[in-house]
Amino acid sequence: MTVTKNETTILKNFINGQWVESSGTETLEVPNPATGEVLARVPISTKEDVDRAVQAAKKAFETWKNTPVPKRARIMFTFHHLLNEHHEELAKLIVQENGKAYKEAYGEIQRGIECVEFAAGAPTLMMGESLSGIAEGIDSEMFRYPLGVVAGITPFNFPMMVPLWMFPLAIACGNTFVLKPSERTPILANKLAELFTQAGAPEGVLNIVHGAHDVVNALIDHEDIKAISFVGSQPVAKYVYERAAAQGKRVQALSGAKNHHIVMPDADVETAVQHVISSAFGSAGQRCMACSAVVIVGENEQFVKLLKQKADEIVIGNGMDPEVFLTPVIRQSHREKVLGYIQKGIEEGAILIRDGRKEMEEMREGNFLGPTIFDHVTPNMTIAKEEIFAPVLSLLRAKDLDEALEYIRKSRYGNGATIYTKDAKAVRKFREEADAGMLGINVGVPATMAFFPFSGWKDSFYGDLHVNGKDGVNFYTRKKMITSRFDF
Ligand code: NAD
Repeated sequence: MTVTKNETTILKNFINGQWVESSGTETLEVPNPATGEVLARVPISTKEDVDRAVQAAKKAFETWKNTPVPKRARIMFTFHHLLNEHHEELAKLIVQENGKAYKEAYGEIQRGIECVEFAAGAPTLMMGESLSGIAEGIDSEMFRYPLGVVAGITPFNFPMMVPLWMFPLAIACGNTFVLKPSERTPILANKLAELFTQAGAPEGVLNIVHGAHDVVNALIDHEDIKAISFVGSQPVAKYVYERAAAQGKRVQALSGAKNHHIVMPDADVETAVQHVISSAFGSAGQRCMACSAVVIVGENEQFVKLLKQKADEIVIGNGMDPEVFLTPVIRQSHREKVLGYIQKGIEEGAILIRDGRKEMEEMREGNFLGPTIFDHVTPNMTIAKEEIFAPVLSLLRAKDLDEALEYIRKSRYGNGATIYTKDAKAVRKFREEADAGMLGINVGVPATMAFFPFSGWKDSFYGDLHVNGKDGVNFYTRKKMITSRFDF
């Protein structure tokens, strides 16, 4: 799956069951975010590479669409078995190229495996519907069919789970697939292709083309690509959605987030602090379901004090160290951007109660930033509005639940929101009025499992059908209605 030139490993594309060199001349380094060690180089592939992959997928589709659904499902069972068998090795790879802690990486793989489990249910998931006697002597039936060649474009922060949100279900539904993984975490995608092939996937059913925006544009514009699944930052998600939808393609584009956690006066403070710490600083805050803004209802200095104390106790370092909780951000350039947000927060009048730049200065190697907490943030400040995607947390104050809900309503994003309380009345009000698609009640990361849709709202999602669950099946299939009569 690699080629070595001048002692650096250059990753290959995976096309038609073969590892092939990209026709592009440019490559990018893939450094370990904790050490800076260059793990590999990723090629910036070309339009020609994309076309080659799409042609292979198109050819494979002719056979794959007619492969019996239980046979397609059986490949998912074998893939599932192989992922379990390689669980530790895959987790180590994630730690190396993404930087997150081993435990988080292990959990990510588990979430991915659950997607494969769900896809293995294709014979049930793909069942149609029928009704006899819609009129005298006339019956109606609905069958589901795959779309053809579909593409997936994925981010760096879940290099395993996000591709597994996409290709197992798409392929189990009878489509063939071209994956463009993040150029910042491309290694794991190749490992997935290796295991999927070992599971019995025929050549051309899953293809991988590495690269950056040119590959994305070539996929969107290719006339043989029928649908695009995208996960990434907001500007790119909107761009991908608009460009692909304008060409009449199906698109699901999952985007950025700014998730609010409301701490009610009756909340169990220890539980709330524990969940906020884990949600805001786990994976270095680089999760689309991370808590990035806490809204404290009423006065709750006990919460602020304990939060700061627990943040001070966080162990920072390389994700391979089992003691470590807070790991580096993905690239130095990303950390520079985050430092700009911290500066902006200070300038706009927020109170920096914990400055993670201290640890950054102490740790020379790797893209580390300590837990950073701003208090007395107001909803119009930049740090309250924009996704920072780092271990930077804002504390806002609200006089009551109505005001806290208003902050959520005003946010352009609507991925997730959480409330900490024991009060059933507050819970019901929150459930009914919180303007976000995935809600937590005393749960820090209310991410859905594979059998439910991952339902971001507002600018956190562009499209109609979400990934996973029945939405995923609907996204990757089209329906045919048969109306029949034999009463002659
Ligand atoms: P990103 O937007 O930089 O990259 C995502 C993908 O888009 C990559 O494959 C990249 O190569 C491609 N891309 C980047 N710039 C492009 C351009 N100008 N034109 C075309 N393609 C381009 O995102 P990222 O930094 O890798 O991932 C983090 C982001 O993803 C965060 O905003 C996070 O909230 C979001 N995310 C959202 C969800 C969700 O479920 N809503 C899940 C995971 C991550």
